Amino acid sequence: MSGQVWFVGAGPGAADLITVRGTRLLAEAGAVLYAGSLVSKAALEWTRADCEIANSAGMTLDEIAYWLIERAARHATVVRLQTGDPSLYGALAEMARPLDAAGIRVGIVPGVSSAMASAAAAGETLTLPEVTQTLIFTRIAGRTPMPEGESLAALAAHGCSLCIYLSIDRIASVVAELRSAGWSDSAPIVVVEKASWPGEERILRGTLTDIAAQCREAGIDRQAMILASPALGARERDTTAVSRLYDAGFAHGFRGSTD
Ligand code: SAH
Repeated sequence: MSGQVWFVGAGPGAADLITVRGTRLLAEAGAVLYAGSLVSKAALEWTRADCEIANSAGMTLDEIAYWLIERAARHATVVRLQTGDPSLYGALAEMARPLDAAGIRVGIVPGVSSAMASAAAAGETLTLPEVTQTLIFTRIAGRTPMPEGESLAALAAHGCSLCIYLSIDRIASVVAELRSAGWSDSAPIVVVEKASWPGEERILRGTLTDIAAQCREAGIDRQAMILASPALGARERDTTAVSRLYDAGFAHGFRGSTD
């Protein structure tokens, strides 16, 4: 009987932001295929000394599938280590399909996505009572076109929090699309490069007016998250409504109401 292939989210970079389940599977695995430079090598510290480890950077999707299928024939546990969370921009369906077709069991372990790590690094909340209660995870069109109705301008029209992946090299277009959706010049934008990577994380805070120039000056053009949200900077403002969850008059399962 063949082994199981696990798609494991390695988290955003820091070795201790992988899940406990992810580390357990890495420690068990007979073979690990990691996703090139985006996955911090630190995660590989969890593997056994005799684990077969390969980098998929130079492989096509077919080669990745072949590698995983071949290893699953020999090992009970095979790990495909992905950056952040495997369900986001990770070609999960394309890689899992040939495994499904080969009758190999597939498991998925979630990971801390870079959007969450970026918000944490910047000390920001992405939801704020009466300001925004919604997040959109998206990107700008590149080689992958955006489906109908999902242009950044159309999504930005909601005025909610936007976590924009894979778009830092087109920050000027991001700014143009937010403007065309009606965002003001003073709308706050946070860019986080290499969130959680020890010694490599950089955070830029700006507005629609200056964020593109800041990125250019700092030389940030890859592996960065763009957070655009009316909730940014909330800790410096005291005018926003306080969440009903902590309101003394609001009863919930763990606490009785005081009125
Ligand atoms: N599955 C991953 C995303 C892969 S797409 C996740 O859940 O995070 C790659 C994009 O993710 C990059 O272009 C960048 O926008 C973002 N990204 C990945 N790691 C990052 C990090 N440590 N800091 C900031 N952005 C990161």
